[in-house]
Amino acid sequence: NIDAAIPVKCRNSWANHSIKSFQTADELETRFINHVETTLARSMYNCDDLAAYQALSNSLRDKLILQWNKTQQFYTIKESKRLYYLSLEFLMGRALDNAMINLDIKDLCNKSIDELGFNLEDIIEVEPDAGLGNGGLGRLAACFVDSLATGNYPGWGYGLRYNYGIFAQKIINGYQVESPDYWLKFGNPWEIPRLEIQIPVDFYGSVNTVIDSKTGKEKKQWSGCERVLAIAYDFPVPGFRTNNVNNLRLWSSQPTTEFDFQKFNEGDYDDSVSEQQKAESITAVLYPNDNFYQGKELRLKQQYFWVAASLHDIVRRFLKTSKKWSEFPDQVAIQLNDTHPTLAVVELQRILVDIEGLEWNEAWDIVTRTFSYTNHTVMQEALEKWPVDLLGNLLPRHLEIIYDINLFFLQNVEKQFPSDRALLSRVSIVEESNPKNLRMAYLAIIGSHKVNGVAELHSELIRTTIFKDFVKIYGEQKFTNVTNGVTFRRWLKQANPKLSSLITKKLGSDDFLTAPVLLKKLEAFIDDKEFLQEWDNVKLENKKRLALLIKKLTNVDVNPHNLFDVQVKRIHEYKRQQMNIFGIIWRYLQIKSTPVDKRNKWLPKVCIIGGKAAPGYYAAKKIIKLVNSVGDVINNDPEIGDLLKVVFIPDYNVSKAEVICPASDISEHISTAGTEASGTSNMKFVLNGGLILGTVDGANVEITREVGEDNIFLFGNLAEDVEDLRYDHQLGRIEIPDALKLVFTELEKGTFGNFDEYRSLVDSIRVHGDYYLVADDFESFIEAQSTIDKEFLNRDGWIKKSVLCVANMGFFSSDRCIEEYSENIWNIEPVSEQV
Ligand code: PLP
Repeated sequence: NIDAAIPVKCRNSWANHSIKSFQTADELETRFINHVETTLARSMYNCDDLAAYQALSNSLRDKLILQWNKTQQFYTIKESKRLYYLSLEFLMGRALDNAMINLDIKDLCNKSIDELGFNLEDIIEVEPDAGLGNGGLGRLAACFVDSLATGNYPGWGYGLRYNYGIFAQKIINGYQVESPDYWLKFGNPWEIPRLEIQIPVDFYGSVNTVIDSKTGKEKKQWSGCERVLAIAYDFPVPGFRTNNVNNLRLWSSQPTTEFDFQKFNEGDYDDSVSEQQKAESITAVLYPNDNFYQGKELRLKQQYFWVAASLHDIVRRFLKTSKKWSEFPDQVAIQLNDTHPTLAVVELQRILVDIEGLEWNEAWDIVTRTFSYTNHTVMQEALEKWPVDLLGNLLPRHLEIIYDINLFFLQNVEKQFPSDRALLSRVSIVEESNPKNLRMAYLAIIGSHKVNGVAELHSELIRTTIFKDFVKIYGEQKFTNVTNGVTFRRWLKQANPKLSSLITKKLGSDDFLTAPVLLKKLEAFIDDKEFLQEWDNVKLENKKRLALLIKKLTNVDVNPHNLFDVQVKRIHEYKRQQMNIFGIIWRYLQIKSTPVDKRNKWLPKVCIIGGKAAPGYYAAKKIIKLVNSVGDVINNDPEIGDLLKVVFIPDYNVSKAEVICPASDISEHISTAGTEASGTSNMKFVLNGGLILGTVDGANVEITREVGEDNIFLFGNLAEDVEDLRYDHQLGRIEIPDALKLVFTELEKGTFGNFDEYRSLVDSIRVHGDYYLVADDFESFIEAQSTIDKEFLNRDGWIKKSVLCVANMGFFSSDRCIEEYSENIWNIEPVSEQV
């Protein structure tokens, strides 16, 4: 009974003065002004849009915190099993609009803000994106916390509070130029600093064997460490139309002591603050690589810092329940979002054995029943392999534990497959390379009870390629699939209010936002001419909105009546933006070689490309430069006019995606088959009534299953053929189609600037074996585009396709993902909504 410790008199005082959240526009205005005048120390006379954003956000935050408190108390009382989603990235984007929508108070806010003399849309635009992620993986985590909260699941996210999120991208003379994203510049009203939650995290030091004074047994002691503190910052995550508010806890690093005062007094100023600076640097910046492993010590420090703080917090919360250790997996599920948090497996084993004194096997049973692991890629360059020496130096005790985990695992494999030495070396966590590496994916599999891929094709690929030995060892049932999804609240209602309203009007309610199968009912209106016209108008309005953004960002005028063909995502050779731009060059050359009076046979098209290249990724940066150079030539060619425009949207991020996704006619998801695990932007585009030009890869396969083959434009080689094609290329058997030769010749001529600039992009195809199969897929790529050109002219047919697509996208709600994870992996249940 949590009340017992508090005297009745005091309890009554608290109850009599309890804070009520605002309910009306009037009450919101009072609260807003209160924040302007006290929190911000401003007044009516100097309240600009930034102050208005801060005051409104603080007002909403008050409401969220009250609900957050109640929700967390409720979970504690219920002692329900909790899920912890460990992700090094949460690409949350903006919070204000999302909070208004999830709390269902946007109209009310609009009214108050208007009465106080501001424009809500302008105020929303003031907020910087929380860009604490690189791309799909981080945005998935953000969709998942929204769905967990909406479904009333007791689920928390744990991550890092980077001072600098994903860099800002500028385009200067066609080149990507990075600048730091100090997103906390004006403070962050959406976080609750828990400065009192300070968790010590240790690094380096050494391991000794000592005698435990209680048990008289030998035990390992890790000592002589450098210590930093993890400070908790909580981000309330409101569910949609529920009073439950979940938590995203992000850790920030701080030194244990402010600085070495003795050194300071002795005049050694630089050294006296160096420890402090080292500690603070741990969470300073997000590593800007997407799908690429770079073995930097600071990155490993980030990983352990985050994992150690999170597990300490989880264990502390569990210990408050006074349940037995054996019940830990009945109270706690931990999901590893990729291998980045794999050290959590080792850390929990360390806590249980070294600190809590459990026997190894008992501890290991608890560990493996607690964790599950999501794989996000089969690409070798993205798989994490930490050098043994690096990890052993930073975390000596953890290295010992990894060796023991590996030993026991290999002993079991040997029992199961007695004479297969090759198998043992293949599945060992320790890769016997020089230097030796630790294969983190293998450790994650061994430490988990379930492993999932993120789309059916991808899950099948991990079972049959990179993890096939583990399937032999553990059996099929350990490996499963949960196809990714997206939250319809942000990616339909918030990003596309016009389409969302039209659907609501037609279906009679907006229940489809939480029960997306209801979208299926749109099929009934497929012959309703008036409805189709309204649908088309919404798309046009959204294209106009994007055209304005393009004008603002690139100064290029694009005609919203023309086909918008969009490819926005991280720039990667495997995602094949190079194929897209080669296709654009080909189209340009074809138009130019068409007699002037026949050129109107070409469908006018606006090609929109955007995305960031990792700062050290040479080829990706060349692709960006090529897109911009081609755009400069084509957009300024007076013979071309509106027939073709090419724009590169700088600094692609979540809030830009919210404008871009509703405005596509076609979006391109054209990765080499078998390389894109799932993709999630493909889902967002289709959900907003855009059709896909895509390869048979990732979730494109399931999108096709749901929307029907007639409503998607697929092309290219299949995943099962990729290996053979690559093998042929290595033997010099590679055929460059004429269309692509034409493009290369034009590049060599210097039409788009000095060829030396792009030689490497061309040579990777002509000389270096065309690993991404651009030459193999090029002809079917441009053929698919010519099919699109024809189909787009059939307006009625096109709009019907668009409606049918949206009607059948229900499966791709992240609510469905969370239900599947909960039922098949986490074994958690929704807690009834607290009041
Ligand atoms: N980057 C941003 C800013 C996004 O919003 C998304 C999401 O949909 C992605 C990257 C992932 O895109 P894709 O699935 O095309 O890789």
